[in-house]
Amino acid sequence: SVRVRFCPSPTGTPHVGMVRTCLFNWAYARHTGGTFVFRIEDTDAQRDSQESFDQIIESLQWLGLDWDEGIGVGGPHGPYRQSERMDIYKDVIPKLLEGGYAYESYSTPEEVEARHIAAGRSPKLGYDGFDRNLTQDQIDAFRAEGREPVIRMRMPDEDVSFTDLIRGEVTFKAGSIPDYVIVRANGDPLYTLVNPVDDAMMKITHVLRGEDLLSSTPRQVVLYRALVELGIADAIPQFGHLPYVMGEGNKKLSKRDPESNLLLHRKNGMIPEGLLNYLALLGWSISPDEDIFTMEEMVKAFDISDVNPNPARFDQKKCTAINADHIRMLTGEDFRGRIVPFLHEADLVSAPDFDSLLPREKEILTAAAPLIQTRIQTLAESVGMLGFFFILDDQVTIEPDAKKTLKAGADEVLAKAIEVLQPLEDFSAENLNEVFREAIVEKMGVKPRLAFGPLRVALSGKRVSPPLFESMEILGKAATLTRLRQLSD
Ligand code: GLU
Repeated sequence: SVRVRFCPSPTGTPHVGMVRTCLFNWAYARHTGGTFVFRIEDTDAQRDSQESFDQIIESLQWLGLDWDEGIGVGGPHGPYRQSERMDIYKDVIPKLLEGGYAYESYSTPEEVEARHIAAGRSPKLGYDGFDRNLTQDQIDAFRAEGREPVIRMRMPDEDVSFTDLIRGEVTFKAGSIPDYVIVRANGDPLYTLVNPVDDAMMKITHVLRGEDLLSSTPRQVVLYRALVELGIADAIPQFGHLPYVMGEGNKKLSKRDPESNLLLHRKNGMIPEGLLNYLALLGWSISPDEDIFTMEEMVKAFDISDVNPNPARFDQKKCTAINADHIRMLTGEDFRGRIVPFLHEADLVSAPDFDSLLPREKEILTAAAPLIQTRIQTLAESVGMLGFFFILDDQVTIEPDAKKTLKAGADEVLAKAIEVLQPLEDFSAENLNEVFREAIVEKMGVKPRLAFGPLRVALSGKRVSPPLFESMEILGKAATLTRLRQLSD
């Protein structure tokens, strides 16, 4: 049965390329009823950090991308952190050496370059295979000089080919890949070794990963052949390389670009449903005329062979628009609960979750959240849209671009509004609408836009707000009058 894996290195902030890889592996496991393994590749002590490790796990949990085996869950092929698997690698290395698949290499980079130059070749050609067949005397001599060897894989003299699940047949010409280092001189095993060894031992059947790793695949295929011959691997997995993700100006999206930063997307109010839907579109589509789908629908439809090998483009506008669709699909209660942390972060409400709010806050939110659910694209926009409801002392600050909309005639409109509101008993949105239309639009002859603009500015301090009369009803008569008077003064 299918066994796929997600195996990030915990270096830096989780990025969209990483999550897209995780998503496709997850979807394939769920589609096939296979197993999704989550391993951490932390063999680079210089660059790995606990912070990054924690962020990766938190991100996957937030997105709901669950795994069956691995970190925190365990399983039959653990441990699942490479830093805890050193004994396993130390055991494999001598087998590769004894079998002649790998060899000790003593040449320094300077010596390799000098040999290339002496032979009239480019010094940049990379390792030249000089140490492939050293005699014991040569080895002893190097040792006597105090040299510590690296260990290199012996690349075959033929082409290396494999069938990529997304790209089809891929061939690397004989001699195009130098014998590469799998163990450092200090004995540390490298990614080039530990990644395929773990995939072999964890019985991974399909390796789905970014196109940036395509050039490491022929190396790994060669290592895998050795592992199969040694009885360490059952079979060589199938490989599929997901397309590059491009950013602005058709440059590869870099981990440093803000659109790439997963935590930033979360902070900006993307919801998991929307973000995952958008990331799925970076190389896949559910049908030619449908962009919006749930993860359940994706799992049902996803197949690796449908992934498009051409570069995908990260389009922030489209990403946000898709998020808006998913926000609309939430139940009212769910939506309301999800905006509370944003309102709390902005100091508008007293707690980060709905149930812990004060009764008046709950009341406002219950009434006001439905007014904005179809009007915002990200949860973070709820702060600007709903903030004015929570100005409890009614000290509204008028934003400069809202002030600019106050044309001649605004004062009369405000004065009239105060006059008709004072005696009003039925403060429902419906009645407010009727009363204002009659008094200001019909009797004063002011156009609706000019009539209601100043009222909106007085209530919210903004040019744009949720529907006016519904907002008045939620604020109540006293607060509404206070705010109107404040602006008319
Ligand atoms: N740890 C590697 C990375 O983060 C995983 C590469 C792979 O999927 O083989 O790039």
